[in-house]
Amino acid sequence: MSIESLMSDEATQQAAVDLKKSRLFFQTRFSKLADPNDLIAEVKGERYKEYRRRFLASGRGEMILDYPLDLSVEAVDWCNYECPYCPRAVDRGSKARIDKAAFERMIDEYAARTQGLAAVGFDRGEPLIDKHLEEKVRYIADRGIVDIILTTNGVYLTPERSRKLIEAGVTKLHCSIDAATQDTYTVCRGGDLELVENNLKEFIRVRNAMGRKVPIVRVSFVVTKLNEHEMDLFVRKWADYTDYIEFQDCVDHSRIDTLPDFETGPFHCQYPFQSIAVTANGNIQPCCSFYAKHLVFGNILKGDTVGQVFNSPQQTELRRSFLEKKGYSVVCKNCRMKPPGATRSDAILVKPAYKPSHRSSPFPL
Ligand code: SF4
Ligand code: SF4
Repeated sequence: MSIESLMSDEATQQAAVDLKKSRLFFQTRFSKLADPNDLIAEVKGERYKEYRRRFLASGRGEMILDYPLDLSVEAVDWCNYECPYCPRAVDRGSKARIDKAAFERMIDEYAARTQGLAAVGFDRGEPLIDKHLEEKVRYIADRGIVDIILTTNGVYLTPERSRKLIEAGVTKLHCSIDAATQDTYTVCRGGDLELVENNLKEFIRVRNAMGRKVPIVRVSFVVTKLNEHEMDLFVRKWADYTDYIEFQDCVDHSRIDTLPDFETGPFHCQYPFQSIAVTANGNIQPCCSFYAKHLVFGNILKGDTVGQVFNSPQQTELRRSFLEKKGYSVVCKNCRMKPPGATRSDAILVKPAYKPSHRSSPFPL
């Protein structure tokens, strides 16, 4: 079933009658709200609205920023899962945790330069493996950053950590699930679906019991041949619980080390215009894509700053390629596009013969 046809399914229409569908950058969103960010704006007010205005305009290339307003942080270079469409399937990471002093220096500069009208997102790796994650969230919130995003697979989202994260100041919780039944979850992720679903529902219950609308909650589903038959069931399962549901196109990571060059038509990527990403090893990249391991332009442990890298010749050149719609980096082509003749299901699986082994993961780091 395609994303486009999903809402024509009769049963889905019945269950998700109030949900609106919108096609976004590389994803399709279902929500009761035109923009779920409006809920946060109700709580945070004009500063949040101004940040979102700058975020949307810069992402379209209509406003050229001199400093990023979207900072992605990899708290730990490790994941407890090895999903077969993810590079973590073949390399879970180094187990590095981001250096505390360098992290705090970076956040201090970021908060000062953006005046807090900005986002910090914990993605890549599994941030809840970091036993100091709540302290990091509080550090960011205390410096006035208006948007703090946590992307997790939900396995370690215990009720106690849920309460601490909400109190610390998370504004968005993104939970990636990718399945509606245990059979499909086993194939896609290899863990206990009921545990994750219960953790997420408990997070929402705790938030509501605290009388809060924020953090808003998203569930997401990376569409592959392994799970596309469960898209409608996924909407029906989560429509009444979460603030929004997102179906995401699967990035084909199978070419991540070979980087074949090929011709493409014009395409756009918002990240070099508004974002910067810092890995647990301190590397500074223009985005959190796994492909960006080929786009390391600095390192916070060597004294480089996110502002320097955002204005570096390398990141400026990426922006130029998208503005002029020519001369794209081969890294970006492989990240966003498929070679001529490739179909949606071609070479999506980094690890086709999937044998779940997530229980061997160290936790917490
Ligand atoms: S949970 Fe996310 S980061 Fe971890 S292996 Fe799966 S897709 Fe990759
Ligand atoms: S690698 Fe290039 S195309 Fe992919 S997200 Fe990063 S900047 Fe965008």
